[in-house]
Formats: sequence, C-alpha cells, structure tokens
Amino acid sequence: MDLDESSEGSPRTKCVAYVVSNELAKTSSLLPSNINRSLLVHSLVKAFGLFSPKPGSRTQLRPLRPIPATMSDLAVYHTRDYLDFVLDGKNAVKAAPGTPSRAEFGLEDDCPPFHGLPDYIRLVAGASLTAANALKDGNTDIAICWDGGRHHAQKSHASGFCYVADCVLSIMSLRRSRVSLPDGTFRKPRILYLDLDLHFSDAVSQSFVSSTNASAPSQILTLSIHHTAPGFFPTSPLAALSDPDDPSFDPFTLSLPLARGTSSASFAKIWASVELIKNTFKPDFTVVQCGVDGLAGDPYATWNLSLADGEGSLGWCIDRICSEWACKVLLLGGGGYNSPNAARAWTYMTSVALGCPLSPETDIPDHAAFPFYAPSFTLDVPAGNVQDQNTQNYLDEVQARLARIACIIAERMESI
Ligand SMILES: [Zn+2]
Repeated sequence: MDLDESSEGSPRTKCVAYVVSNELAKTSSLLPSNINRSLLVHSLVKAFGLFSPKPGSRTQLRPLRPIPATMSDLAVYHTRDYLDFVLDGKNAVKAAPGTPSRAEFGLEDDCPPFHGLPDYIRLVAGASLTAANALKDGNTDIAICWDGGRHHAQKSHASGFCYVADCVLSIMSLRRSRVSLPDGTFRKPRILYLDLDLHFSDAVSQSFVSSTNASAPSQILTLSIHHTAPGFFPTSPLAALSDPDDPSFDPFTLSLPLARGTSSASFAKIWASVELIKNTFKPDFTVVQCGVDGLAGDPYATWNLSLADGEGSLGWCIDRICSEWACKVLLLGGGGYNSPNAARAWTYMTSVALGCPLSPETDIPDHAAFPFYAPSFTLDVPAGNVQDQNTQNYLDEVQARLARIACIIAERMESI
C-alpha cells in the first residue's frame, strides 16, 4: 500500500482534535498497568511535529485541553457508591475502618488503588468526553483521546486495568446529540462502537445489549474484534462469534473472535464484513477503541498484528475508517503493554487521521524518550514469526455469519 495515496483524494479539509495536557499525561502515566505510557505517547506525537501543520497540508491537529469529568458526568454510568469510594483519595490509598472494602469495588489484583486515582478517573473520563463534545459541536471530524478506551470498567467496580468507563460515557454523550435532516427536522444519531483491542469489550457490549424481544433498530451497535480462549480475560458468553440462531442473539451487539497468531492477513479477510455491517448500520459517529495489545511484540504475545505493512494492519484499518467512512470518528486508546510500541502505533495513527501518514521507516526523532525506542529507532512495529491459527474455514464462516447479520440489521433499519 502506498500510504501517501491512501485516501480517495478528497480535497476537503478535515479538522482533527487531539486531547492532551501535561496534567493528563502525568496523571494517566500513573495507571499501574501502563506506567509512563501516556508520557511516551504524547511526547512522540509532539516530537514528530504533528501539532505543526505541514506546508501544503489541508489538515491540522488541534490540541484540546481535557475538562475533568464532574460527579454527575460520571454518574451517568457509574453507581454513586462506586464513585463515592474511588473519588475519595483516602480510600484509594487505604480503606478507612468501617468503610466498604476495596474488594467490593474491584480495587485489588489487576486494579490496585494508587495515589492520584481520583484525579485519574476525573481526567480520563473528562478527556474522552471532551473529545466526544468536540465531535458534537460540529466543526471536528475526528477526535483523538489516546488516554481513553477503558473498555472493562463496570458500573460499580474496576476491572481489567480499567477504573472508569470512558467508552461508555462517550457513547452516552454522543447519543444525546441530534442529526439534522434536509427537511429541517432532527433525528437521534446512530453510533457504531468498534473495538480492535486484543480483549473483548465486555463492559461496553453489556451496557448496550438490546432486549432479546426488541424488533426496533438500536441507536448503538457494538462490534468487538478480539481473542477468546478458555480462561482468557474477560470470559463472557457475549464474546463468542455472534450467532443469529442463538435465542439471545442481538444484531446490535456483535462479537468477532479471532485465534492465536492473528495477523494482518486475517484482519484483511474480515474487514469487508466489518464494512458491510458499517454500511448497513450507517453510523453518524464511529467510536473506535484502538487497543494495541494485539500488535507483535506486546507482552501478551497472543496476536501478531503489524502496524503498517499494508492491508489488514492496524494502521490500514484506521486509515480506512478515517479516510473512507462517511461519519465522524472518535479514536480512543486501550490496551498496549509494550509502551514504546503503543507510542509508535498511536503516533502513526494520529498521522493517518491527519491524512498525512508518516512512513513506517521514519527514524524516531531525537527527544527525551529516544532511548526507549532501541534497537530499531524507527516508527514501525513489524509482524513477528508466529503462525496465524485462523483457518480459511473459520474466516469463511465469519463472513457468512456477518452477511446474515447484516440482512437482519437491514430489516430492522427498514422497520423505522
Ligand atoms: Zn486489551
């Protein structure tokens, strides 16, 4: 793929907003599962000069300061009991005698309490909401919040390195906007949530699952592409390949699990099905959880995706969404436990969103974090030598299943 020619050549200027502040980077860098990752990400985006418009470029990255979420912003999804506990700095460090236990709110094991947790929750939720609001305001086409994408946080407890459900809150915020129609009337927006993280988007999918008897179209469609295996986090019946013959099937809550070793080749094969679902649902907004723990080199060592080696690579997927899809796009972060690779990936995706993709062979610019990019000192995250265990039969089944589901969605959409 010639990345410089990757868009269809639309001359329209796109406005791309990027949520960042020193306080956000410092606070987000306290996340125990991703210490200092946020600082690496934002400093690499800055080092590549993405905030300075290129000569002749029609796009510009507009930095946006996050507005911390208020209690009432957070209570749109989370329970008061959970918020009272996690927003009290004393509880984050040491639960006071006679107060509910940390375990009740999931603050143990992979979600330990930490100094700065209340600020972290307010800022990360506020950052994603700031991005969502920029899209709602009308002038922004793509909004980026790499500190967001916490797709496991539940209403009343932390889970899977996630303490605050910014994905859910952002979708709920976008849902409250309205789309103007040519006849001067308005309708509710349709929102597609697409999750590319290695892990199933359990909290987001559960939040918007429709009633099994619903015959009306849903305003929100969730599609999670992820790895599943016995015991692989998070275990959920919703994580299996969506099956229209299942009595609990909901065509607006979709899962597409892929096997160990998933490569760009498998993503390339399923992508037509993803776009079929998108084209059928016709979203006004797409929220993409861009978790990068499926990239080669991640400590999970489960998938073998590449960042930019052409069709099916994560960068190619984001390019398709930002360049070709006729909707506003919210790009959120997510998993990614090789921090320099996460910084490479989200910097590259930022350049893709701007319509001026950096070359993957580009050298990492000299900046304070430069030594972390050894030994390659380039932007690329190439695939490794792992066998892709998705069989052609399985990928054909995925294609057939999603084609059936698209027909069901189309029927529901026509029932409006
Ligand atoms: Zn993950």
